[in-house]
Amino acid sequence: MSTHNETVDVALIGGGIMSATLGAFLRNLEPSWSIRVFERLPEVAAESSDAWNNAGTGHSALCELNYTPEGPDGSIDITKAVGVNEQFQQSRQFWQFLLDTGQLQDNSFINQCPHMTLVRGGDDVDYLRRRHDALSASPLFRSMRYSTDRDEIASWAPLIVEGRPESDTIAATFDATGTDVDFGLLTRQLLSHHKDVQVNRDVARIEPDGAGWNLKVRNTFTRHESTVHARFVFVGAGGRALELLQTANAPEIHGYSLLPIAGHFLRTTAPEVVERHHAKVYGKAPIGAPPMSMPHLDARIIGGAKSVLFGPYAGANPKFLKNGSLLDMPRTLRPGNVLPFARMGLANLNLLGLLVGDLTSSPAHKLKQLKEFAPTVGDDHWELYAAGQRAQIVKPDQKRGGVLQFGTEVISSAGGSLAGVLGASPGASTAVPIALSVLQKSFPNRYEGAWADRLHEMVPTLGVALTDAPELAAATMARTAAALGIEP
Ligand SMILES: Cc1cc2nc3c(=O)[nH]c(=O)nc-3n(C[C@H](O)[C@H](O)[C@H](O)COP(=O)(O)OP(=O)(O)OC[C@H]3O[C@@H](n4cnc5c(N)ncnc54)[C@H](O)[C@@H]3O)c2cc1C
Repeated sequence: MSTHNETVDVALIGGGIMSATLGAFLRNLEPSWSIRVFERLPEVAAESSDAWNNAGTGHSALCELNYTPEGPDGSIDITKAVGVNEQFQQSRQFWQFLLDTGQLQDNSFINQCPHMTLVRGGDDVDYLRRRHDALSASPLFRSMRYSTDRDEIASWAPLIVEGRPESDTIAATFDATGTDVDFGLLTRQLLSHHKDVQVNRDVARIEPDGAGWNLKVRNTFTRHESTVHARFVFVGAGGRALELLQTANAPEIHGYSLLPIAGHFLRTTAPEVVERHHAKVYGKAPIGAPPMSMPHLDARIIGGAKSVLFGPYAGANPKFLKNGSLLDMPRTLRPGNVLPFARMGLANLNLLGLLVGDLTSSPAHKLKQLKEFAPTVGDDHWELYAAGQRAQIVKPDQKRGGVLQFGTEVISSAGGSLAGVLGASPGASTAVPIALSVLQKSFPNRYEGAWADRLHEMVPTLGVALTDAPELAAATMARTAAALGIEP
């Protein structure tokens, strides 16, 4: 029989946006439950959820081309885009609930920031027009505008037009309802309402113990080790989630491994740039590149200060967390996942080549890529910095051996008493639907029964497809926009 020092109802491993959001739901659904957050670093929200470690795009498919693939017959499939937008509407509703009930201090974590897409060349211009036509059919995208007129595009974002040769055929879409989100600030605000957040606590292992789990916790400051028993464990440990789920022997992740992809951005605070760029402008990813390497020129508002980012430049770095270890990858290799990983690598040599290419590309080459977006910006104002690490899922596949997956996957194990999140995209924007999915998988009876009314107070349109309900969609978007201080 094992012994443990303490018992809690819920253990949330990791102090990022995922744990913070799930914790906020559970606190409201079961106020009597004891919930403890364990964070290995001296502060919360210092990994991918930190504002500088991600691009802060409130992903709602207003500007990202990868959510609207073109079929062989030339039709545009908007299913994924509608899904991503619906998910963001859920996030907006939950944030409004937290503001209304005083569980978020203020709405300064979210700012209005139009989302744009810019394309060049006849085929892409034609694609963007058809994409706009297809999306306009949904009430979620009614405010999106399309133009090939340089003056109009310049009125939306002058820097992407100025200095561009007249021979360059361009088109753009513009949606004023887009947002820039400081997910770090949001995480810190959410966790400030938790009574029990322990920093400098590294959870080394999760072991089954009767009706629950024993967590082996190391105090990174004193080196003291303790065991904490929890009835329900959520692994919101970002890139470390796979390793922790492996220690728990979760069969659901058998054969899984991770491909780490580093992200770098160019950043400027030069007034001549930040005062003239108030949008997030997404372009098209190079052929063969992963979707998250779509180049974008982003206005950011962090801590009230404006800046502009350009990137991301992907790169190779074996760590699974920015503050991780070179041993992150070796520690997760198992007899069952080496082959799927190798097969994925062989099938994605192009991608691996691109990652290495980005790693070795010179500063001059990086500036050249920026100038394809904004031809007249000066060279001196930009600094290159390392953002967060993404750990993309590689999973076994019967036909192909192993496949690389760019989305996020919610893992639920042992009758739901252990859950976790793997992967990185669409990321922090979807923390609310991800938390809802964890609750549904781990507590199915409560979700459909005792919690149902309370969940609808928190996310009023839960279970409704807003894209099929134009009036409700318009009313919901107007209501949340007013609460969050963004464009209705
Ligand atoms: C370059 C880049 C750009 C991105 N851009 C966007 C964007 O524009 N929009 C968007 O919505 N998303 C974006 N994302 C994705 C988004 O940042 C992540 O999906 C999100 O922040 C993940 O949150 P998390 O809570 O799962 O992980 P994290 O924020 O990484 O938090 C995990 C926490 O767990 C802690 N931890 C790890 N192991 C342990 C352990 N053993 N014990 C205790 N604590 C532990 C870590 O220290 C960390 O604090 C981007 C990501 C990157 C890297």
